[in-house]
Amino acid sequence: AWLLRNQQIAIFQPKLQTSLKDKAQLEEDLHKALESNSFDVFYQAKVDSKGQIVGAEALARWFHPTRGLISPADFIPIAEETGLIIELGKIVLTKVCKQLQLWFEKGIKIPVAVNLSARQLINQNLQDDILNLLHQHRLPNELLELEVTETLLLENLDAALPILNAFHRNGIKVSIDDFGTGYSSLAYLKSLPLNTLKIDKSFIKELPNNENDKAIVEAIAYIAKALGLSTIAEGVETKAQLNFLQSLNVCCFQGFYFYKPLPVEAFEDVMNQQITH
Ligand code: C2E
Ligand code: CA
Ligand code: CA
Ligand code: CA
Repeated sequence: AWLLRNQQIAIFQPKLQTSLKDKAQLEEDLHKALESNSFDVFYQAKVDSKGQIVGAEALARWFHPTRGLISPADFIPIAEETGLIIELGKIVLTKVCKQLQLWFEKGIKIPVAVNLSARQLINQNLQDDILNLLHQHRLPNELLELEVTETLLLENLDAALPILNAFHRNGIKVSIDDFGTGYSSLAYLKSLPLNTLKIDKSFIKELPNNENDKAIVEAIAYIAKALGLSTIAEGVETKAQLNFLQSLNVCCFQGFYFYKPLPVEAFEDVMNQQITH
């Protein structure tokens, strides 16, 4: 465990200038980090309209020896390009399953969503890896959820479909992340076994003042309802955003207005507070 574990809020470096040299260096560092176990997982609560925690999203964190905490927005793309994402993805999934097991044994049954990237989704071993991990940690499959972005899914639809079907058969829920930012076609929604549309934070940011964003979010809520999908809004930062979303019967919320992504101990404190109140 590193120092960061005791800090509630982790401050990222300003966005890295990813020059070629930087990139090559980061790639090398990423290799080392995978060997030296320098990754951790933070948890951000998902809440219902009463503010009750109903789940969490697992977000990868890399504590770099000299650069400090590096944002996943900076290292996930490099991990993707180099194929290291497969290994990193396994690390995240394993850490989350270990954590879920610890919570489950204490009677805390909180579903945790893990982000999947393209290479993982089309990897033939993904479904077996995930089902094995759940089995090894004696977890009900329902405790693990997956988030997949729309663009990624649609670019890999043929490979992804049988994998999504397998998850569905096994009770593992799948959300479409960053919904609305990718493809313009909605046809795929009815043909895939999906559970939740996660409304992208770019549409939430200027609510309730931006008429275009209001219309888009209304339309997403409407489509989701018509198709029997649930909705969650990400990036909720203000009471005014929350009020607008609640008026649309959006089920769940995630964002700094409620909780930031937290190291595991801090996240547990938050859950314990909820239980005792
Ligand atoms: P994402 O899946 O869309 O995750 C949501 C991002 O929004 C997270 O950034 C989270 O910290 C941030 N966020 C949460 N609430 C708020 C809010 O109220 N306002 C604002 N402005 N932002 C908020 P983070 O943790 O930096 O992750 C960035 C992206 O990196 C994620 O976007 C996801 O696509 C990717 N990522 C993170 N962990 C993993 C992982 O384990 N595997 C893969 N494949 N991708 C990951
Ligand atoms: Ca996500
Ligand atoms: Ca998202
Ligand atoms: Ca995103």
